Amino acid sequence: MAFGLHSYPAVYRSKFDNGVWTGGFEEKPHKTPEEEAKLSEAELEKLENSRNFYDDMPLVGYTTQYGMSCFEGLKALPQKDGGIALFRPDQNAKRFYKSMKGLYMPPFPEEEFVSACVEIVKRNAALGFKPVYKKEWEQDSFMTADSIYIRPFSYSEGGVGVALSKKPWVVIITTPVSAYFSDGTSGAVITGRIRAAPKGTGWIKAASNYTISALAKHEAAEAGYMECIYLDAVHRKYVEEGSSCNVFFYLKSGELVTPELGDTILPGITRASIIELARDKNVTVSERKISIDEVFSEAKECFVSGTAAGATPIESLTYEGKTVVFNDRKTGGLTADIRDTIKGIQYGTLPDKKGWMVKAV
Ligand SMILES: *Cc1c(COP(=O)(O)O)cnc(C)c1O
Repeated sequence: MAFGLHSYPAVYRSKFDNGVWTGGFEEKPHKTPEEEAKLSEAELEKLENSRNFYDDMPLVGYTTQYGMSCFEGLKALPQKDGGIALFRPDQNAKRFYKSMKGLYMPPFPEEEFVSACVEIVKRNAALGFKPVYKKEWEQDSFMTADSIYIRPFSYSEGGVGVALSKKPWVVIITTPVSAYFSDGTSGAVITGRIRAAPKGTGWIKAASNYTISALAKHEAAEAGYMECIYLDAVHRKYVEEGSSCNVFFYLKSGELVTPELGDTILPGITRASIIELARDKNVTVSERKISIDEVFSEAKECFVSGTAAGATPIESLTYEGKTVVFNDRKTGGLTADIRDTIKGIQYGTLPDKKGWMVKAV
């Protein structure tokens, strides 16, 4: 379900101090990828762990004590015609800037974000740490394809009182990833928990939001579901999103609906991209409130969207003991079309008409 951390050696780090960001790249301990592949599990774990440390970063601080941190997740994908390209890093840079401002941190410059993300992929590739495009991925719509997950995040200075992070670091690490959701059921369940409330931090990719997500997702998995879906905190009636993904419903009327943004929903870049792609296909797309009752009576397809999830079909949704099944538990036509379009653009099998891909290698 989640994916493991196998940090690549090249990392980036910048620190805000005296009103300026100062940063650069570092190369953590490593052998060649071929040599590392021959290590025992314990040896590899020791080596990879050594890449996950900075001995000059405080253990006790606002991030570790109170979750005062925000992060991003974006991907670099091996291309059909060779090379590696990032998907819309400028959008992640924008959101990270807003997240940091939302947490009253000094925001990280967008251009530096993009160039650091591109450069870290380049540096790791030069050391041999990179996935290689495989033709067989085309057979299963890239469901099992490899990519590089890029994780930028903020990390606070030391401190113990509940306070803001005024002199944070921004660190960027990368790790290879494959399929996010495991095989088996793709059923979802409405969780009784509340992810985000009005006036809270739900619209920010804030570390503190994900404790509840992890609890709800664990409970869903224990009950046999792949994903949990949240209802709004006030009315307990409108569908909001998944644990770390947005949600779409394709209605019998031909309308594709995704909940409208607000302060309780994370503005996904995959979500925004799907809205654009669906409109290009002449699908009527609405960003509006959708109640759980409307989903039960009107939806014929459902999928969740996110950097890790792509567009992943949801076969059923369970709420208060009742279950609605979408499209006989098979991937629906529009869902498959959207999934294939976005994956095709990302892996370079379809033309990138919108200039979304940024080549790193
Ligand atoms: C990251 C995230 C998403 C998806 O955003 P993308 O930019 O598409 O990856 C959706 N919901 C939540 C709560 C998230 O954390």
